Formats: sequence, C-alpha cells, structure tokens
Amino acid sequence: MAGDPQADCLFCKIVAGEVPATIVRETETTVAFRDINPQAPTHVLVIPRVHYPDAASLAAAEPQVVADILRESREVAAGDNIEDTGYRVVFNTGAGAGQTVFHAHLHVLGGRGLQWPPG
Ligand code: 5GP
Repeated sequence: MAGDPQADCLFCKIVAGEVPATIVRETETTVAFRDINPQAPTHVLVIPRVHYPDAASLAAAEPQVVADILRESREVAAGDNIEDTGYRVVFNTGAGAGQTVFHAHLHVLGGRGLQWPPG
C-alpha cells in the first residue's frame, strides 16, 4: 500500500531501528537524524515515517506530514541554536536535483554561511 515500508529502503530501515543513526528528534509522523556525510556543522535529515519516494509524492498523498516535517525542521534549528544565524531547508526531488535516497527527506543545513545559488 502507498506509504508502507519498503524492504530495500535505507531510510525505512532507520525508521524501524534496523540501521543505526544519530536520532535528534522523533514524533508520531517523523524522524530527524544527523546526516552521515554532513555538509555543514548542522546537517540533519527530517523524514516521514511513511515511505514515499520524494517530497512531491508525499505532498500529493499526505500533505499534513509535509507540514509536520517543516515544523520539525524548526525544532531541529532551535535545538542546534542556528535559528538566529540562519539555516536552509532543502528537498532534493529527483536524481537531476541531486536526490540519491528515494525516501522523502528534508535537509536542515546551518552553522556556517551558505551561498546562493546552490551548486
Ligand atoms: P539526497 O542526496 O538524497 O538529497 O540526500 C541523501 C542524504 O542521505 C545524503 O546527504 C547522505 O549523506 C545521507 N545518507 C546516506 N546514507 C546514510 C546513512 O546510512 N545514514 C545517514 N545518517 N545518512 C545517510
């Protein structure tokens, strides 16, 4: 069924506790954990517990969970004390935009100056 865990999905395994991760926060609908290859002092991924391959399909099927993810990104920023200095939230959507893990996830990046436009 749409949204159900996928046996071959790395982030479903993190949600299930089958792959270790440095968990920052958890809610009924989301899990936030530190990226294994951080691109900034704060680099946290906020993911839905349900499996959708990208943010677009999640937004179409369960828009409230997208709102939950964004609310959690604010809590992550507050927890890492980067609210005042600024931070970036990014959903890479599709391989052409740099998405490599096909379970929707929001990057929360901060703790250093960030350039625009991104690469
Ligand atoms: P994407 O490129 O799909 O937007 O982002 C995927 C992110 O997942 C990358 O930043 C990558 O470093 C991170 N990542 C990949 N494998 C793991 C893992 O096993 N554990 C954690 N914590 N992060 C991972």
